[in-house]
Amino acid sequence: MKLTLKMKVREKTKWKIQALRRAMETFRDAVNDWIDVAWKHKIADRTLHEIAYKELRQKYRNLYSNSLQDAMNWAIQIVKTELKLNPNKKPEFKTLMISFKNVDFKFENNGFVIPLNGKRVYVPVYVPKKYYKWLVNGKFGRLYFKEEDGEIYAYLTVKVEDKPVYEPKSWFGVDLGVHNLAVVADERGRKILRFDGEIVNRYKELLEKERARRQKRQMKEFNNKEHKYGCKHRSFSRYVNHVVSKEIVRKAKEYKACIVLEKLRGVKRRGARKPKRVRKLLHRWSYHDLIQKIKYKAKLEGVPVIEISPRNTSKTCSNCGFVYKRFKDQRLFHCPKCGIIIDRDLNASINIARKGREEYKKRAFLSALKSEASSPQWL
Ligand SMILES: [Zn+2]
Repeated sequence: MKLTLKMKVREKTKWKIQALRRAMETFRDAVNDWIDVAWKHKIADRTLHEIAYKELRQKYRNLYSNSLQDAMNWAIQIVKTELKLNPNKKPEFKTLMISFKNVDFKFENNGFVIPLNGKRVYVPVYVPKKYYKWLVNGKFGRLYFKEEDGEIYAYLTVKVEDKPVYEPKSWFGVDLGVHNLAVVADERGRKILRFDGEIVNRYKELLEKERARRQKRQMKEFNNKEHKYGCKHRSFSRYVNHVVSKEIVRKAKEYKACIVLEKLRGVKRRGARKPKRVRKLLHRWSYHDLIQKIKYKAKLEGVPVIEISPRNTSKTCSNCGFVYKRFKDQRLFHCPKCGIIIDRDLNASINIARKGREEYKKRAFLSALKSEASSPQWL
């Protein structure tokens, strides 16, 4: 699978940072020039190279030739999408970045050696410990430098070997966020994990207080701070999602379980009848990010993942199978048929686990049928 490793550039030497910044500005200008050409000719493919490469090579003599070609690739992608979405307005590339092909850079001594202004320049980065195994064994793809909030980051794409996926012995249904952040249960009805929304609540209250204080003071750059508040929330939710997904995948691996997720369209907006405070909070939670993190960590660990339709998972009684159509996502599921009272999220996650087991077996059966049908012994 392909990973993208993000590493912050160490601002050790000023001239290097300045040179890098200048190169990024040049790259951006070059992308915009390629866009001009593409837009003028209404062409969004590699024939652009024949039309304008020589001319742009003259103009951007300081830019590494492969980077100039990559600028063209970026322009092609941008123009392609814009011609479909917004054919009347020429797009503009605003991101401050530059990209290098894998043959053009080297990773050594916790830094990248890249071509800048005709020289090889060593740019040191902060390397998180967990990256080392991929930096040593992985196959490098492209390297980008990109500016974000005034800092420069290196993004390295790495291809790593997938671990073989095991045959599951159990199924873990994951229910995301109505009253809890995540509840995990298996197909036998055992509760495996529960991450409550309490930690989120507490954090949110803290942020609200902070915001109220700021509003009182009527700070001048309020809008600016407002932006930062959003960022803060985002990075916090990413961190919590990291912890939650890591634990779910670890537990699944321990039990040789298959993780069962609901296929969600965008953000899940179930549970519209909760108190407003909770509703606002949970809707801001990045479930998409959590799902992506679970999938990606599972893939790295060789943990199987299956997605099922969310239809009736919260309305079905996990004890007797009755579908309680009028159930409105209260905290407790009270089955009118068998009388059981069970936590809503737990009930849903058990149903998800069972649906996952069904789906898994169905798919395994179908693929076995397929391979038998195509094997020569049947001919
Ligand atoms: Zn029941």
